[in-house]
Amino acid sequence: MPADTNHRPVVTRFAPSPTGALHIGGARTALFAWAYARGHSGKFILRIEDTDLKRSSPESTRGIIRDLVWLGLMWDEGPKGPCMKQACDCGKGPDEDFDPYNRQVGDNGPYFQSQRAEQGLYDHYIQLLLDAGEAYEEDGAVRLKMGGHRGDIAFDDAVYGHIEVKAEDLEDFVIRKGDDGGRLPTFHFAVVCDDALMGVTHVIRGQEHLSNTTKHAAIYDALAKLTNDAVTWARPTWVHTPSIMNPGGSKMSKRDKAKAARQAAKIAKIAKIAKADGIDAARFDAFIDADNNDNDITLAIAHKLGLKLPEIDVNDFLESGYLPGVCLNYIALLGWNPGDNQEKFDLDFLSKHFDFDRVGKANSTFDRDKLRSFNGDAIRELSKDDFACELGGYVKNYRPDWQEASVFNGDDWQTFCTAVQERAETLPQPLDANTFLIAEDDGIEYDFAPKPIRKAMTNSNGAGVKLLGEVRAAFDGLPEDNFGHTAHEKINELAEAAGINMGKYAQPVRIAVAGSPVTPPLDVTLDLLGKSSTLERIDRCLAAAKAHMESQA
Ligand code: GLU
Repeated sequence: MPADTNHRPVVTRFAPSPTGALHIGGARTALFAWAYARGHSGKFILRIEDTDLKRSSPESTRGIIRDLVWLGLMWDEGPKGPCMKQACDCGKGPDEDFDPYNRQVGDNGPYFQSQRAEQGLYDHYIQLLLDAGEAYEEDGAVRLKMGGHRGDIAFDDAVYGHIEVKAEDLEDFVIRKGDDGGRLPTFHFAVVCDDALMGVTHVIRGQEHLSNTTKHAAIYDALAKLTNDAVTWARPTWVHTPSIMNPGGSKMSKRDKAKAARQAAKIAKIAKIAKADGIDAARFDAFIDADNNDNDITLAIAHKLGLKLPEIDVNDFLESGYLPGVCLNYIALLGWNPGDNQEKFDLDFLSKHFDFDRVGKANSTFDRDKLRSFNGDAIRELSKDDFACELGGYVKNYRPDWQEASVFNGDDWQTFCTAVQERAETLPQPLDANTFLIAEDDGIEYDFAPKPIRKAMTNSNGAGVKLLGEVRAAFDGLPEDNFGHTAHEKINELAEAAGINMGKYAQPVRIAVAGSPVTPPLDVTLDLLGKSSTLERIDRCLAAAKAHMESQA
C-alpha cells in the first residue's frame, strides 16, 4: 500500500484541545496515531488546539503533555515536554514547570493554534474563500457555503467505510467566529488548515468527529481548488475510532466521577459540604440535583467519604498505581487486536502490527478487573530492583505518609518490596495493606470482634492469647540483630515442642504487630519492625486482649 494516495510520507498527529485532563480515550487516539506513524516510518506530531479561549488553559496543556510523556508516546514535532532527567540540556531539574509555548521543535510550527492564529495563518485562507465567494460574512462570523452550492459530499473512512451526505442535509457553517469568539477560526477550519499545512496524511480521532468530517472534506476541496495545490490540500485518510464505554453501557466520561460522588453523597445522606470545604451551599445542592458536575464538589465529597472515584483520565490511572505500559497495552485492545488471541504486548509490538483493518466499529467496554489483572501480571514480571524503583517513585510522588517511615530506606525498602511484589496488583495496594509498618507502636488498634481474630486469640478461653504470652517470653532474650529470622525460628521451636501447628503461634503475633492476621511473611514483617516495636506491640495486644476477655466474662 502506498503511504498515501499522493505518495506522501506518513504523518499522523494527536491534536488535543487543552480544556481538561487527558482522557483515557484521548490517550488511545494518541497511541494509535503514534503506532501508525512508527510502523510506517512516518512522523508523529503533537498539536495543541487551543482556539477555544474560554475553555483552554496552560495547566491543562502541561498536564496533557506530562501524561503523554509518562505513557512514553513521544512525538517528533510539537511543544517540548518536561525534562525527565537531572542532566537534561536545559539545565533544570526533572519535571520543572516547563514552558511548552516557547519551546517547540519541528519545521511546521508553531504547534499551538492560538499562536498560528496570531500569525494570520488562518485569516489568509479565509480571505481566499471570501474573495472567491465560497464563504461569506454574517454577524461578524464567516461561514462556508454548503448545500446546493457544494453538492453532495462523500468520503471513505478507514473504519466506518463509505459515508455520503446529501447536499440538502449540509448547512453552511461558521469557519471564523465573530468578535465574542476573538475572530478565531473554528475547530473545523483550524484542524483542516493545520493538517494540510503540516502534511498530515492520516487523521486518527474519536468517532464523535465522524459527523464533522463532511465539513472538513468541503474545506479541503475548496482550498485545493483555490490554491491550485491539490497535493497539500488532498483529503487525508480519515480513521475514526469507536467509543470506550462503561460496563453499564454509558460512554466513559469525565462526568462519571461526579456521578459516583453524587450517588455516594446521597447514600451517605450528606446534607451539605461544610463551608470549610470552600463549597457554596447552592452550588452543592445543584450538584446533588445533577445540575452541574463540579470537580471541586466531586473531590470534596470523595475526600469526606473516603470514596475512591473511578479512573477516567490518564493521571487517575497513574495515581491509582498502574504502570504506563500496562495502560497502553490495555487501551490498545479497546478497539483493536492483533488477530491471534494475543493480548499482552508492548509498544514495539504495537508499532509493528498496528493497522486500521483490525480496528473494529463496535464500541468497547472498559473492564477494570482485566486492567487490574494485567497490571498485577506486569508487576510480577518486573525485576526486584525495578519494582522497588517503581514503588519508590510512587511513594515519592503520592505517599508522604510513607516517605518519612524507616521502612522507606535502603535495605528495608528492598526487603519490603520483595515481600509484597508477588501479590501487588497496583502500586498503592501493598502500601495500603501494610500501613501497620509505618504506624506508631501505640497506633495499632485491636478489635477482637472479627471471626478470624476471635479464632486466633480469644476463643477456647483465650488459647491464642496464652500462646502469645509464651512467644513474648521467648522473644525477650533474642538478639536485636536479624530479629525477624531468629524470632521466626523461635516460633518454630515453640510449635514443635508443643506439638502444634506453627500458625497457632504465628497468627496471634501477626495480630499483635499489625492489628490483623494478614501480613507479609512473618520473618520479613518482624525484621522490618525490629525487636523493640515487636515487643511493645505484643505487650499492648496482650493487655487489650485481657481487658476484652474480662469485659466479656
Ligand atoms: N481538538 C480536537 C479534539 O480534541 C481534535 C480532533 C481531531 O483530531 O481532528 O477532539
